[in-house]
Amino acid sequence: MYDYLIVGAGLFGAVFAHEAAAKGVKCLIIDKRPHIGGNIYTENVEGINVHKYGAHIFHTSDKEVWDYVNQFAEFNNYVNSPVAVYNDELYNLPFNMNTFSKMWGIKTPAEAKAKIAEQIANLNIKDPNNLEEQALKLVGTDVYEKLIKGYTEKQWGRPCSELPAFIIKRLPLRFRFDNNYFNDRYQGIPIGGYTPIIEKMLANVDVKLNTDYFEFVKEYPEIASKTVFTGAVDEFFGYIFGALEYRSVRFETEILDEENYQGNAVVNYTHRDVPYTRIIEHKHFEFGEQPKTVISREYSAEWKPGAEPYYPVNNERNNSLYRKYEGLSAERKNVIFGGRLGTYKYYDMDKVVRAALETASKELGKM
Ligand code: FAD
Ligand code: UDP
Repeated sequence: MYDYLIVGAGLFGAVFAHEAAAKGVKCLIIDKRPHIGGNIYTENVEGINVHKYGAHIFHTSDKEVWDYVNQFAEFNNYVNSPVAVYNDELYNLPFNMNTFSKMWGIKTPAEAKAKIAEQIANLNIKDPNNLEEQALKLVGTDVYEKLIKGYTEKQWGRPCSELPAFIIKRLPLRFRFDNNYFNDRYQGIPIGGYTPIIEKMLANVDVKLNTDYFEFVKEYPEIASKTVFTGAVDEFFGYIFGALEYRSVRFETEILDEENYQGNAVVNYTHRDVPYTRIIEHKHFEFGEQPKTVISREYSAEWKPGAEPYYPVNNERNNSLYRKYEGLSAERKNVIFGGRLGTYKYYDMDKVVRAALETASKELGKM
């Protein structure tokens, strides 16, 4: 018997388990995958830490969260600065003076602002209702057409006019020459990858892999007094109100017999006709100088049963469906729902750590 059964050895589950174990609370953590770490799992290939489920850059302005994760790893000084490829044109991201000067041959912030204003003058967008309006309002038609529309519609599989505006507001917009993809105070990649962080968090926790909750709980219904569930909330309730939509991602990973394939960790392909959204060259996250390199092409796909759900699609239809599941979740006093899938939120890692710490303090304070 355990105090807690934690479903999902991703970041949320691991932080909760670590906090519980530190208080002497008995936890069992299970995962259906053959490894710990969830989507932040990294694996060593040719001496390179490969981000198996997509590029993960830790960035936060939350000092407590930053100090917390730094207990488990030393972070390097990597600053994410993706490059966008549109046909044979290359642009710096996020949208900043380097992007605008390349796009329009201009030099000053005033010229860039005037260009954007001129492009949107006739569109008359006051309160943007969707991603398309939001993007146009922020950066004008050229940047929208070349760097946003194709990429976003590939990533989300929906027209920009049917996506929530907040998604594009994740990216900084700057009238400075600054290619840092994030505005956060702290940023870096854990030296040695993410998996050792999760290993350290789970050092004093019982772990069982290759174990699906729904099978396991049939066999061991009394295994713990409480459950922390970080899988998909709609699956937990047997899709009783219908299925929430997710985007899934497929990675094609290759080892190349060359030292430096693309000169940057992240290169986005923003044209619709290129089937993948981006290529990750993993060694550049840690400034690697290995003789070979590993690259992953990232293809976005609609989630279907059996695939991995990655991104919640937080549009109105899904958010209102989620609220029904949230109502049911609140009634289940012995189950706590957490993480990206358990709460159907497009959470970055720092927000997941914060949420797990808060859940742990609320829960474990009571014991
Ligand atoms: P997960 O990591 O998904 O863990 C959930 C675990 O539960 C999984 O291991 C799963 O196998 C397991 N599970 C589910 N159902 C069951 C079941 N029935 N039985 C047993 N086990 C089950 N964040 C950043 O801060 N920076 C980034 O650069 C960044 N890049 C990202 C790139 C991509 C492509 C994606 C998809 C996400 C990215 N994120 C990034 C977000 C980050 O991945 C998440 O915030 C974080 O991993 C969420 O942790 P979690 O524990 O909630 O979920
Ligand atoms: N985006 C874009 N062009 C790019 C990169 C991003 O239009 O080259 C948009 C796209 O809508 C995407 C959003 O910005 O969904 C957020 O991008 P981010 O890199 O934060 O996505 P994630 O890392 O979560 O995949």
